[in-house]
Amino acid sequence: MKNRKLLMIPGPIEFTPEVMRAMAMPTTSHVAPAFVECMGEAIERTREVFLSPGGQPFIVAGSGTMAMDMAACNVIEPGDTALVVNTGYFSDRFGVILERYGARVTHVKTPAIGDAPSLDEVEAEIKKGDYKVLTVTHVDTSTAVLTDIKGLAGLCRKYGILSIVDGVCSVAGEELRQGEWGVDIVLTACQKAVGVPPGLALLVASPKAIEVFKNRRTPVGSYYSDWANWLPIMESYENRKAAYFGTQAVNLVWALNVSLEQILAEGMDTRFARHRLMSKAFKAAMTALGLKQIPVSEGKAANTLSAPYFPEGITGSVLPLIAQAGVILAGGLHAEIREKYFRVGHMGVVSASDILATVGAIEAGLAKAGYKFEHGEGLAAAQAVLLQ
Ligand code: PMP
Repeated sequence: MKNRKLLMIPGPIEFTPEVMRAMAMPTTSHVAPAFVECMGEAIERTREVFLSPGGQPFIVAGSGTMAMDMAACNVIEPGDTALVVNTGYFSDRFGVILERYGARVTHVKTPAIGDAPSLDEVEAEIKKGDYKVLTVTHVDTSTAVLTDIKGLAGLCRKYGILSIVDGVCSVAGEELRQGEWGVDIVLTACQKAVGVPPGLALLVASPKAIEVFKNRRTPVGSYYSDWANWLPIMESYENRKAAYFGTQAVNLVWALNVSLEQILAEGMDTRFARHRLMSKAFKAAMTALGLKQIPVSEGKAANTLSAPYFPEGITGSVLPLIAQAGVILAGGLHAEIREKYFRVGHMGVVSASDILATVGAIEAGLAKAGYKFEHGEGLAAAQAVLLQ
């Protein structure tokens, strides 16, 4: 009997066998010619995956929070003003990080959980202050709310504000065109749609973001994250010359280079479309089973994950039953409603059969927990979308 469960949480996700093989290779030196080539390629491919032809990639050992830290510490100086477009848990976190580096932070948020501030609301706030930086979470992993990055980046350009996008739960899954949309900093971590076991922070900075960094009046408050330390390293590897500041996470970078190659072989547009389809199928299944979801409308719902409420009479104790049926899901994260909902990641290499297996396991768990519904209705709704 197969003893392996499907991991359908919003990161870490399921990884390809090729990526896992790269992780298991004998570790090379971080200055070995083959690794220099690998790192150089990974930097070039990162630029392509972020759709940021003029951007400067940074690939550094660390998690997504490290990437947020790197973005904040390099462009914020004490006394700077920052506007956080707040959609939940990870937007709150960005506010705290910005404050740590001396920014005066304003949050713009809507009272309703599952909603995101409209462009008009954000613009009204921008007009009140003289903001240097705006941060926004593309997909808030606590609520599965999707924000309008194209629209917000347009506002930032109009008012001369530096835009920073937390793309930890979006990059390589959700449509995001850094160059075309004019986003200054996009950051992510490797364990989600980028498809590599946790441990790498990825960030791409626009020429304007690098210029803001170069014109700083004060030193960067973090030694490890300082672009003054990392920029020469990234430039050197891209020119296929070994360089050292901190030891690269060698095996993770080998794995990253494989995953980026696989992502680009699929093609970014095809990949965005596949994520939209998988999400639509999963969400249709939840609706068919009578489960409501946190995002207030389809336009504000992420394609990389879903956040359904438990139905009446069902609690988080259904999650172990779903796990017994073979699929691991995540519990709630938003403090106010933590016990009322669960989260399902469907990003990266996620396939139609993963969606069907997940819906099947949710049905099995709900049935065991005593929820009354027509067995197979969720599966039929998902399949109807997948076969369209
Ligand atoms: N931002 C978002 C949107 C996230 O989903 C996460 C992780 N779930 C983070 C930031 C933080 O990333 P990490 O846990 O890798 O530090």
